[in-house]
Amino acid sequence: MIKRLAYLLTIILISSCHSYTAISSTSFEDVANGNCTVIDLTYPLNRSNAYWPAPSYAPFTYKTVATLKDDGVFSGAYSTPEHLGTHIDAPNHFEENQSSVDELRLETLIGPAAVIDISDKVENNPDYELTVSDIVDWEKANGRIKKRSIILLNTGWWRRWDDYEKYKNADDTNKLHFPGYSAEAAGFLVEKRFSNGIGIDTLSADYGISTDFAVHHIINSAGKYILENVANLYKLPPAGATLIIAPIKIEGGSGGQARIWAVLPPP
Ligand SMILES: [Zn+2]
Repeated sequence: MIKRLAYLLTIILISSCHSYTAISSTSFEDVANGNCTVIDLTYPLNRSNAYWPAPSYAPFTYKTVATLKDDGVFSGAYSTPEHLGTHIDAPNHFEENQSSVDELRLETLIGPAAVIDISDKVENNPDYELTVSDIVDWEKANGRIKKRSIILLNTGWWRRWDDYEKYKNADDTNKLHFPGYSAEAAGFLVEKRFSNGIGIDTLSADYGISTDFAVHHIINSAGKYILENVANLYKLPPAGATLIIAPIKIEGGSGGQARIWAVLPPP
């Protein structure tokens, strides 16, 4: 199993770090030696992190339980909803009989990133939903989305990250307004492009005013995952980056915080 994973990592990283002719087992070293640019797509956890605004959810908390001065060791304790900050939604989040976060196959948490930028469309319409024709346009410019890709939607919403109220963007009737994927686009990505998962730089893959969470149902019923509140998507090229996702392993959990980073090909 470990050998298989190492082999898979090597193949993926080779395509990201070097030309295809430079196939060797040195690709891990290339990353470690700084020959590849690595971009962190994770927001640091703190009390002001965005989370799903339901009554039973609460902000991230952290308290110091031991200090170097008093105890000779520094140590803390924290609490958080699973769906806070940069995190993953496991397939069991919206569907019965699907994997919990600890059951996600690690092979599915590494793959080519396809980054679709809809920030110009969102600027005039915060309720914009990614369409299949947006995906087709992306493919005209960048080639067909590879199997087992992870799709990342750059909506430009990251500009609001530091202000939770602006990030939620609730109206007078408490309806949220932020962009997302359309149900058709989500279906296309899992059924026609065999994507491993999808991600977005907002609170939810469904747009804010959704009441049926159709995108969550489509993705989760296909056994796939969703990444939410993903940082720094504007720093990624549309194609060519390799994504690595490392979610917290909560037994039976519906998701949880994930460290996500991208390895870029050399300039
Ligand atoms: Zn979530």
